[in-house]
Amino acid sequence: MTAFWTEPDYDDHELVQLVRDRVSGLTAIIALHSTHLGPGAGGTRFWHYADPQDAMRDALRLSRGMSYKNAMAGLPMGGGKAVILADRERTKTPQMLEAFGEAVETLGGAYVTAEDVGIGEADMVAVSRRTQYVTGLPVDGEGAAGGDPGPFTAMGIYHGIKAAVRHKLGKDSVRGVHVAIQGVGSVGGGVARLLSKDGAKLTLSDIDMDRAAALADELEGETAAPDAVMGVACDVFSPNALGAILDDAGIARLDAPIVAGGANNQLARAHHGETLAERGILYAPDYVINAGGIISVTLEYLARRDGTACDINEVRKRIAQIPGRLKEIWQESDASGVSPDVVADRMAQKLIGR
Ligand code: NAD
Repeated sequence: MTAFWTEPDYDDHELVQLVRDRVSGLTAIIALHSTHLGPGAGGTRFWHYADPQDAMRDALRLSRGMSYKNAMAGLPMGGGKAVILADRERTKTPQMLEAFGEAVETLGGAYVTAEDVGIGEADMVAVSRRTQYVTGLPVDGEGAAGGDPGPFTAMGIYHGIKAAVRHKLGKDSVRGVHVAIQGVGSVGGGVARLLSKDGAKLTLSDIDMDRAAALADELEGETAAPDAVMGVACDVFSPNALGAILDDAGIARLDAPIVAGGANNQLARAHHGETLAERGILYAPDYVINAGGIISVTLEYLARRDGTACDINEVRKRIAQIPGRLKEIWQESDASGVSPDVVADRMAQKLIGR
């Protein structure tokens, strides 16, 4: 058996906890990477892992990512993440989620949880029956602050794409700028709608091609098959589906001067940021551009804790600061010749005192 602290992804995490509840069948891992800036905040992933070792790797890697993301978003939060190890059928019960909530409560606020892949608002309500250290709970009314982070993530990416277009192409508007979007779910669909309002030219792709075609119809865009979208000749390739798509083969296929999208962990390996730079492709580091959702759920959490209402204008204001951070990273990258992903990592590490 290998000890988790000998894993390459173990990065002096402050706490890694296995949670077992025999009655509900819950098995989960909670990882706190850094609480230097505040409680570790990050979502809970519900996933079937064929190998439990992969669950541990995910918890370690994702919680470190949250430390970097929260620091770069200027939030008073550290980095944490939880994974619930689902069975093959992905059985999810309220009892299981409540048992998970109890484990979060036991940590006394060192970890604050929210949605991630496989977990929705309704699940967070079940978790919240046992812990106060939870956010991303349903809110009343469209456009209200808090709740589903997807639309806020989309808003940040939209701002980030505009900043990238300005930096790389010298254009102040995205009118006529061609953006190819991989994945048109909660985030990618939102990005497409916002860009369409500004007159961008869109090519949409999704493994659910009916979904992509319906949105393309609505926004008067084109579609591309899932295996073709990375090769579309365009101005911006925006990945909003899977991680690890920027590998040697993927980068070689790109026909775009900019990569800017919301998917987590886009670079397959650390050196792929350098590969993009060598090809002259401007990269928006994923955890910087996709911070809109965590900004929203964090402000929602802090407001609830203080017994106040979450201020949507404050959420918007902070999301609008994402382009400024990207610009700082790109300028530093241009000046030093160090790729933007490495510049961002160094900035984040400094902020969390590492
Ligand atoms: P989602 O499930 O709503 O949408 C994902 C979409 O991608 C779906 O329509 C799915 O069919 C499609 N898809 C899956 N595999 C694909 C493939 N190979 N090619 C093309 N399309 C594919 O998820 P989401 O919330 O929109 O999240 C998208 C990405 O953004 C994920 O990587 C997620 O981790 C990341 N992210 C999301 C948020 C958020 O607030 N929701 C925040 C930060 C990062």
